[in-house]
Amino acid sequence: MQIKELLKQSPSEQEVTVKGWVRTKRGQAAVTFIAINDGSTIHNIQAVAEGGAIDEETLKLVSTGACVAITGKLIASMGSGQAVEVKAEKIVVYGTADETFPMQPKKHSMEFLREKAHLRFRTNTFGAIFRIRHALAYAVHKYYNDNGFFYLHTPIITASDAEGAGEMFHVTNFDMEKPPKTEDGSIDYSQDFFGRQTSLTVSGQLEGELGALALSKIYTFGPTFRAENSNTTRHLAEFWMIEPEVAFYELEDNMALAEDFVQYVIKYALENCADDLAFLEKRLLEEEKNKPQNERSELSLLEKLKFVVENKFERLTYTEAIEILVRSKPHKEKKFQYPVEWGIDLQSEHERYLVEKHFKKPVILTNYPKDIKAFYMKQDEDGKTVRAMDVLFPGIGEIIGGSQREDDYEKLLARTKEVGIDPENIWWYLETRKFGSAPHAGFGLGFERLVLFVTGMTNIRDVIPFPRTPKSAEF
Ligand code: ATP
Ligand code: MN
Repeated sequence: MQIKELLKQSPSEQEVTVKGWVRTKRGQAAVTFIAINDGSTIHNIQAVAEGGAIDEETLKLVSTGACVAITGKLIASMGSGQAVEVKAEKIVVYGTADETFPMQPKKHSMEFLREKAHLRFRTNTFGAIFRIRHALAYAVHKYYNDNGFFYLHTPIITASDAEGAGEMFHVTNFDMEKPPKTEDGSIDYSQDFFGRQTSLTVSGQLEGELGALALSKIYTFGPTFRAENSNTTRHLAEFWMIEPEVAFYELEDNMALAEDFVQYVIKYALENCADDLAFLEKRLLEEEKNKPQNERSELSLLEKLKFVVENKFERLTYTEAIEILVRSKPHKEKKFQYPVEWGIDLQSEHERYLVEKHFKKPVILTNYPKDIKAFYMKQDEDGKTVRAMDVLFPGIGEIIGGSQREDDYEKLLARTKEVGIDPENIWWYLETRKFGSAPHAGFGLGFERLVLFVTGMTNIRDVIPFPRTPKSAEF
């Protein structure tokens, strides 16, 4: 039985077997207390070996990090902190761990644990994070399934570089030493595996739209890749993205969906991950003790999550946001690193000012200048802005980017050429605007940014099991 279930049992001396990893061992020959964790819950179960019950040789092998199976009677615990414990009668040691086991019970830095990503799952912090990550992923599927969406698997290998020119990882099976060349000396991709140049996808959106224009409501949830060299606490080279796409939705519907969806999954975590969140809340408090007063959060982790679930997100246009920023104190006092004027791509410092200082709640910014947004976004009547929306979160900045899509064939074709994309490359995408085009909208939520927010962690490398970032692909 999993420890999570065992801890809920009422003790009546029933015989049980606990399998898991030893977190700590204390006590002497007379009584030994062994704390075991199997990852099913943040809580350990305690096994008590009274003198003589277990032979000394075996007991010696039971040390922090060892994997064991302990059989004995489930009894009421005399100690505080747990209702039940196991009175050990038999111990099988599956795998020993000596004192070089790195996850000894003491404080480790996040950097150290990142270098030990193969073992960091065995700490309370990472156990909590990955149980919550799972719960959030499940909640994503549940939300969309319950609301009539279909899960669409869009390809990982793609030949369209429509979105992230220059930021894609190439996929090839050429011998890199001597790729075939054309007469003019350039690489001859017609001889490559797919007969053309291919890359790892940066988004499933374009294909997602094709699905939505038949199934009406679809979502994708898969890995995406970006070869951007941004070594920040919010960017990964490989991350998971959730992308709903809905026919007949306009920008307002899209905003309502984003808000309802994010609130739902956070609520799901609050209701189903209470123990792990309580642990992470304490962890965050500890971490923030080392920070100067003005950098500490005003709300605790749980307060922050409840606040987001219970309050409507602020909605305003990009133009209104620029006006607020221009009038802001940090702008007047030249505290912003980057200039503020209509037309700029908002920097993280601007987004965080709006969310954390001005509105003090999640913000949805809409109607951005068309020149800083992708070619497929629907143009507004003014000819200057597009129906884009970014959802900004405290501590994170952009968590969602989306838009109503251009559904007018001529306008989309013109815009494609304007930004320098060869229409031939995405002929299939353009063609959906020729046959039964429909208003539609969608967005992309970076899954790790959501996990970052819910767990209160500060570095995106700590909320994905094995982070891929510039110069780092260990494990
Ligand atoms: P940013 O400005 O933060 O780099 P973006 O504008 O490039 O984001 P989009 O292309 O709109 O982001 O992607 C949709 C969502 O995917 C973002 O809102 C964010 O949550 C997430 N995202 C984007 N790039 C990354 C990345 N490198 N690592 C993790 N998540 C990302
Ligand atoms: Mn980016």
